[in-house]
Amino acid sequence: MGKIAVGTGVICAATVCAVAALIIQRRMKNSARWAKAMEIFNEFEKKCETPIERLNLVADAMLDEMNAGLASENGNQLKMLISYVDNLPTGDEHGLFYALDLGGTNFRVLRVQLGGKEGRVLKQESTEVSIPPQLMIGTSEELFDFIAEALAKFVATESEGFHVSPGRHRELGFTFSFPVKQTSIASGSLIRWTKGFSIDDAVGQDVVAQLTKSMEKKGVDMRVGALVNDTIGTLAGGRYANKDVVAAVILGTGTNAAYVERVSAIPKWKGPLPKSEEMVINMEWGNFRSSHLPLTEYDHQLDIESLNVGEQIFEKKISGMYLGDIVRRVLLKMAEEAAFFGDTVPPKLSVPFVLRTPVMSAMHHDTSPDLKIVGSKLKEILGISNTTLRTRKIVVDLCNIVATRGARLSAAGILGILKKIGRDTVNEAQKQNTVIAMDGGLYEHYTEFRECLKSTIKELLGEEVAETILIELANDGSGLGATLLAASHSQYIDVEP
Ligand code: ADP
Ligand code: MG
Repeated sequence: MGKIAVGTGVICAATVCAVAALIIQRRMKNSARWAKAMEIFNEFEKKCETPIERLNLVADAMLDEMNAGLASENGNQLKMLISYVDNLPTGDEHGLFYALDLGGTNFRVLRVQLGGKEGRVLKQESTEVSIPPQLMIGTSEELFDFIAEALAKFVATESEGFHVSPGRHRELGFTFSFPVKQTSIASGSLIRWTKGFSIDDAVGQDVVAQLTKSMEKKGVDMRVGALVNDTIGTLAGGRYANKDVVAAVILGTGTNAAYVERVSAIPKWKGPLPKSEEMVINMEWGNFRSSHLPLTEYDHQLDIESLNVGEQIFEKKISGMYLGDIVRRVLLKMAEEAAFFGDTVPPKLSVPFVLRTPVMSAMHHDTSPDLKIVGSKLKEILGISNTTLRTRKIVVDLCNIVATRGARLSAAGILGILKKIGRDTVNEAQKQNTVIAMDGGLYEHYTEFRECLKSTIKELLGEEVAETILIELANDGSGLGATLLAASHSQYIDVEP
């Protein structure tokens, strides 16, 4: 009896020892994994650092590239496209104007009745039409006929309060957000389609001529007064709302900027000097690159696997299309090399773009004590369940690193523009404010990103100058802006109202 009891005791002791050893072993394994994960995390954090000295170098590099792009037509990373907009809205615009906004799978048509300084926008109406998928890959004629027909229907519903001046044609501003080689304020040829459109016979053709032909066919009595992209439209809409607006920045799926330049500072401009002596420049700043931009292995890999390798490097670090995917790539490496989410790598983590920026932003903004939203997003989007609080905290920190870097680099880009137009110091004589019209879902909805961008501008410029720099969210600048540009470039501009 006693023997047996002793035996059981021995067996029990042995089991306890084995279990303890296993626990210790597992703890050691876990802590080794955690240490490895932290090593990956820390290295990434370090490589993403954007101290103020570095941001100043980025701003100076942006300035240099702006000058290069203004000097000559070819071979520069910043295209600094001449928009032919030499005349921004003043508030005096009068009359009925239309706009057509085409840049994705929907297009919008709108009309405004402008009443000059007193009346401003007297009345505004718009409608949105989705483009049937087969028309996105059909012929140019089919697409533009469809658009002109929708426009004809919209014009037919012109209600009381809208009236075209007697003896005049209706005028339209066309926001066409695809790459265009502009040849005048109201003409330009399509360089290539993007965003799922593929209509071969339209490439190289003047998009305004094609639209005009279809409008004639459908009996729309309208003249295209301005062809612009969304950044220029935002600048025009912003200027109408606030006369101190001198630049526009888009931070949405992609990114771009436009600003008002003195014609005398554009060596490549060979045309006549406009009355205003100014010209709006479409920077196409998404294609900016510099050795001063922080570069990690994840950025490099993202670029290599993208559809436009080596292009849009700035855009790939700061815009909504990419931020979430950078976070995903770091998490994937931590899963693969440090078993960050357990013994197996969660399969969904390998799917490109599965972690969208709005989800990243939702996790980043999670203020619940147990990071409930992070937990549920990881489960719902990446199929990762049962995460510990400490794991979730690391995920939030990663979102913070990527968003902070993007926001600070965006601020450096803005500083480059301010330097270019001499608004990076306080002009004692003029004491003028400088306003930047901002549009895009990333800036609008990602609060941490937005606040970081604003505080970085302050940090870069100092309190006194920063007080003169304002960023105004210009909702739907491109729509209203296009109608205003049609107005400020109207063929009747020199005719009495
Ligand atoms: P687009 O740039 O395509 O014209 P938007 O200006 O509306 O359209 O921007 C949409 C982009 O904004 C999305 O692709 C996404 O990257 C970003 N975005 C939208 N909502 C959020 C959000 N809540 N948090 C962070 N980013 C967002
Ligand atoms: Mg947009």
